[in-house]
Amino acid sequence: MIERADVVVIGSGGLGAATAFYLVQRGAGRVVLVDKHDLGSQTSPRAAGMAAHARTSDLMIELMKVASAKFKRFTEDTGQPLAWTQSGSVKVARRPEDAGTLEREHARAKRFGLDAELISPEAAHRLNPLLEPEGVLAAMWVGEDLYFEPSQVAIGFARGAEAAGASVLPRTTVTRVEVGDGGVTRVETDKGTIRTPVVVDAAGAWTRQVAAASGIRIPIVPTRHQLFVTERVEGVDADLPMVRIMDAGVYVRPCDGGLLWGVFEEAPRQLDMDSLGGSFQIPDLELDAAVLLRAADDVQQQLPALRAARIREHRGGIPTMTADGRHIVGPTPGAQGFFIAGGCNVAGLSISPAIGDALAAWIIHGAPPHDLTPLSLERFGPESPTEETLRRDAAWQYRHFYGSA
Ligand SMILES: Cc1cc2nc3c(=O)[nH]c(=O)nc-3n(C[C@H](O)[C@H](O)[C@H](O)COP(=O)(O)OP(=O)(O)OC[C@H]3O[C@@H](n4cnc5c(N)ncnc54)[C@H](O)[C@@H]3O)c2cc1C
Repeated sequence: MIERADVVVIGSGGLGAATAFYLVQRGAGRVVLVDKHDLGSQTSPRAAGMAAHARTSDLMIELMKVASAKFKRFTEDTGQPLAWTQSGSVKVARRPEDAGTLEREHARAKRFGLDAELISPEAAHRLNPLLEPEGVLAAMWVGEDLYFEPSQVAIGFARGAEAAGASVLPRTTVTRVEVGDGGVTRVETDKGTIRTPVVVDAAGAWTRQVAAASGIRIPIVPTRHQLFVTERVEGVDADLPMVRIMDAGVYVRPCDGGLLWGVFEEAPRQLDMDSLGGSFQIPDLELDAAVLLRAADDVQQQLPALRAARIREHRGGIPTMTADGRHIVGPTPGAQGFFIAGGCNVAGLSISPAIGDALAAWIIHGAPPHDLTPLSLERFGPESPTEETLRRDAAWQYRHFYGSA
């Protein structure tokens, strides 16, 4: 067992593995990446792998631009494979209030120089013939949007980190981070203790538990999210633009000649990780096909192919939601050396290269390259929301994922 480290990263999903990779790249010294399961094996490989550039905040656009540039040179940087396709995307409003939101998003995207255009429903249909124009009020094209193979990201960063000198410890559970008056002193695991002044809690759905063992409250709600992958569908090639339907919370992208699609449902299932038990893994998560089938009915007029296609795979994972829909990234007040990379809000994988690099710079140089104040744990103030308010607001953020009114 390794006895000393300069930084211990807890969790080898997209967020933790990227942080470990950039820590080593930036010369952080002895970096240890610990995971209680196999490397990159939990929520990250089950994602849709979609990267959206036109976001609801300036900071997210900035981070997304950094992240997608890093995805494009992933193999060059990490030495690991990553399949990605810049197909562009079409975001669709079916209600007047959502058309207004789309206009504001378009204005912000243009300010950042994105290839974003408001287009007619017929033009959207020409770009993606699976999208029928009936019932579409407004649409926005974003040329930079891309999708990537989600199962290659976390493992690629973890292997890249290891090749560059990090120590990687799969099947090792962190039981407690010891925090003294001067800050973090050591990490206790089921295989032994590692002395370190810095930890990054990137434990995904378990981020809260890891922090709680040190008396730190992280206001996030683990929330089930699921998708279908279909058999081949006529007319689908890899370049077909992705589609997002705002009020329905439905998204679809090409996947091996078929479609990969999912939904942000009205009443998401929120989970209490403690009640699932210590041996729970994401593959044990109970899925519910009815949620997706109801969504297919909801968008039947615009995307009839979803109902018609045969399902090849049904998968899901447990991203974590916050009360304001923003990630939690950075140091923990009152616990020097205890950093968080969590509250992914179902958008953690696509942004992971930017968050990982920013956090690595923060740990090494004392400040991040972007102003990440909007993502700080401190923003919730000393009066962290009650559990009831947190769950209510987190559910609202989930079901309004596409900024629908
Ligand atoms: C169906 C679906 C579709 C999605 N689509 C997208 C998308 O298109 N774009 C996007 O950006 N995001 C998407 N997401 C969200 C994305 O998957 C998450 O934001 C991201 O994977 C979170 O990564 P993570 O590193 O926080 O968590 P994880 O990948 O779950 O990694 C956390 C790791 O921490 C480890 N761990 C936990 N506790 C401990 C402990 N005590 N000791 C040691 N290790 C521990 C776990 O074993 C795990 O490996 C989607 C999610 C789902 C489920």
